[in-house]
Amino acid sequence: MSRPYKVTLIPGDGIGPEVAAAAVRVLTATGIPFEWETQPAGASAIGEHGTALPPQVLESVRRNKLALKGPTETPVGTGHRSVNVELRKQLDLYANLRPVQSLPGVKSRYEAVDLVVVRENTEDLYSGLEHVVVPGVVESLKIITEKASLRIARFAFDYSRAHARQKVTAVHKANIMKLSDGLFLDCCRRVAKEYADVAYDEIIVDNACMQLVLEPSRFDVLLLENLYGDIVSDLCAGFVGGLGMAPGANIGVAAALFEAVHGSAPDIAGKNLANPIALILSGTLMLDHLGEHPAAERVRRAVRAVLAEGKKLTRDLGGTAGTTEIAEAIASSIEQGGAAAHPLGPPLASRE
Ligand code: NAD
Repeated sequence: MSRPYKVTLIPGDGIGPEVAAAAVRVLTATGIPFEWETQPAGASAIGEHGTALPPQVLESVRRNKLALKGPTETPVGTGHRSVNVELRKQLDLYANLRPVQSLPGVKSRYEAVDLVVVRENTEDLYSGLEHVVVPGVVESLKIITEKASLRIARFAFDYSRAHARQKVTAVHKANIMKLSDGLFLDCCRRVAKEYADVAYDEIIVDNACMQLVLEPSRFDVLLLENLYGDIVSDLCAGFVGGLGMAPGANIGVAAALFEAVHGSAPDIAGKNLANPIALILSGTLMLDHLGEHPAAERVRRAVRAVLAEGKKLTRDLGGTAGTTEIAEAIASSIEQGGAAAHPLGPPLASRE
C-alpha cells in the first residue's frame, strides 16, 4: 500500500463533527490511504485552548499542506474573529473555488445548472479593518490590491482552461466603487488578454444576481471579489438544492483546505439531521487536488446513485434519513463497486 496522505481534520462546531465523520467514512471507503490529524478550531475550541484558532492548527495544516474542515461558528457583531478568515489569511489560501452543479433526484427550481464560483479569499471588506471614527460613525476598509486581483483572475482562467470551461465572467460594482472595483476589473481585463482561448465578459453584481436567478445557465465561471463571492455562492447553492449540496475548496500555493459552503447550522446540530454531501463533495475536490481522479469519480458516482435512488435522503432533500445513514449508503455503494457501473452521465464538478 502506498504511503497515506496526511490530512488535518478540523471537525469544527455545530453540525461540523457529524458531517466531518460522514466525509471521513466515505473517503475511507475509496481505499485511498489517509492519515487524519484531528485538530480543534472554532467556538468549541475556546473552552480548552482559550482561542478559537490554537497555533497547532495552523502548524498542522502547514505541515500536511492539506485540510478537510467542518464549519466553525463566528459570533455576530462581537466576539472572536472568524476562524475561516484567519485560516485563509494566515495560510494565504487565496482562491475559493465553489462548483455548483445540479444532481439527480434533488428537487430544485432549476435543472442542469453547471457553474463555478471563483472568489478572492484574502482581502476586500474581509480584511477586518474597522474602526469607530466618532461615536455613531464607523469606517470599514475595503482593501483591493493589484497583486491579489491578478492572482485570482489567473486562477479563474487557469481553472477554466484545465476544466474545458468556456467563459469567465467578472462580477463587480466598478460603476460606484471606481477605484477599488475599478482596479479589480482592470486586472481581470489584463489577465483575460493572456487567455485568448477562454471567453471573457463582465457584469455588475446586482444585475448578476438577477440574471443568475432568471437563467443560471447563461453563466459558466464567475470571478468575484471576496464579499460578492461569499454572497453569490450561497445564492448559487440555492439552485442545486441548498447549502447541504454545495462543496468548496480554499487553495493557496503552500496548502489547500477543503470545506463546504454551509455554516455550523446550530438549529440542527447534534440531531443527525445534517446533509453531509456538501463536505463529501468537498472531499472529492481534495481527491482531485491530489491527482486521485478515479477515486474522486467513484465518490461522485456513488453520491449520484444514492440521490437518484432516493431512498436515503436527509430532511433538507425531502427524506427522513440521518447524516450517518446517507453517508453509510454512499460508502457502501463505493465499497460494493456498484457506483462505478452506474450509468449516471458525466462526472460531477469536473468536465475533464
Ligand atoms: P448555516 O449555513 O449554518 O445555516 C443556514 C441554514 O441552512 C440553516 O437553516 C441550516 O440548518 C441549513 N443548513 C446548513 N448546512 C446544512 C446541511 N449540511 N444540511 C442541512 N441543512 C443545512 O448559516 P448561518 O445560520 O448563517 O450560520 C451559522 C454559523 O455558521 C455562524 O456562526 C456562521 O458564522 C458560521 N459559518 C461558518 C462557515 C464556515 O465555517 N465555513 C460558513 C458560513 C457560516
